[in-house]
Amino acid sequence: MEEVKTKIFSLFKDDVSVVILSHRNPDSDSLGSSLGLAHFLSRYTRRVAVITPNPAPRFLNYFPGIETVFDAESDLERANWAIENAEIVFCLDFGTLDRVEPLNEAVRNAGKRVVHIDHHLDFEPFAAYIYRDPAACSTSELVYRLIRQEGISPDAATCLYSGILTDTVSFKVRMTPEVHWVVADLIAAGADINKVHEGINGSYTENRLRMTGFALLNRLCVLPEYKTAYIMLTAQDAERFNLEEGDTEGLVNFTLYLEGVNFGVLMTERKDMVKMSFRSRGAFSARDFAANFEGGGHYNAAGGRSRLSPAETETKFLELLRKVKDQLQY
Ligand code: 5GP
Ligand code: MN
Repeated sequence: MEEVKTKIFSLFKDDVSVVILSHRNPDSDSLGSSLGLAHFLSRYTRRVAVITPNPAPRFLNYFPGIETVFDAESDLERANWAIENAEIVFCLDFGTLDRVEPLNEAVRNAGKRVVHIDHHLDFEPFAAYIYRDPAACSTSELVYRLIRQEGISPDAATCLYSGILTDTVSFKVRMTPEVHWVVADLIAAGADINKVHEGINGSYTENRLRMTGFALLNRLCVLPEYKTAYIMLTAQDAERFNLEEGDTEGLVNFTLYLEGVNFGVLMTERKDMVKMSFRSRGAFSARDFAANFEGGGHYNAAGGRSRLSPAETETKFLELLRKVKDQLQY
């Protein structure tokens, strides 16, 4: 880590131009690590652009600095230009370039100027400088490790705290003693934890809360013989509750509230695909299973997608489940 840190810090000079890029479907860790780093870099330069492949969900508006983030969907040319012309491009919270489509080519071409910081198991070598640690709870924790000695501002602390909070599912998974030390330090540095908690758990729309209840009552299927529970939300359901981007965030975690369930899945029908979220407990690899659906992620938390219809996706899912039935019995 020290070697990477020394290299990265040697790149900082007066007004260096920096792009910070994180994955599609921004979440609290991708934004938290990106904006946390951006707040830190604002000491060295005013030329920092935080870019996401598509817009962040509205409920993440509590992040200090969120108004400076721009998404490639609204201006692809500008996003590609920024990556092509930046002196340093930070890639945060994704392991492989398919997760930043359609900006992947620009990043590949920027190779020598790219710093890659990530905690996923998936990995593709596209950067000149790499700091990855799949044992870290979040990319926000990695950014913390890189910048802590230089001092952390309250805004940076708020962003990093948020990323750690959600990637550990509120300090429940991927926990190490270190995480509590990090969080203590972030709170001491002035992290606005009330703002973060309000943003995550105190800002639902009525529709979102009712959709959560509906999904658990009417769309949850429990398969005790497979120790699996899954939720399928159709486009009709989304329409009924006027679902917005991000409204299903965290919903999949409810499946593992069930005793005796080792694998939980959320499938959400979108315009041109079914988005899949996988969560597992213990020995079963959610990531290996996600590989059947163009996906990946962490051992116990992964994502992917299916180009089939919801009904066909469900059939494929159930067929695959039969093959791994033995692996789920523990
Ligand atoms: P979520 O289910 O919350 O969307 O994602 C769970 C984890 O899997 C996150 O760490 C996320 O970065 C990763 N992930 C989500 N979707 C994909 C995907 O399509 N491909 C890969 N490789 N990882 C994903
Ligand atoms: Mn993450």
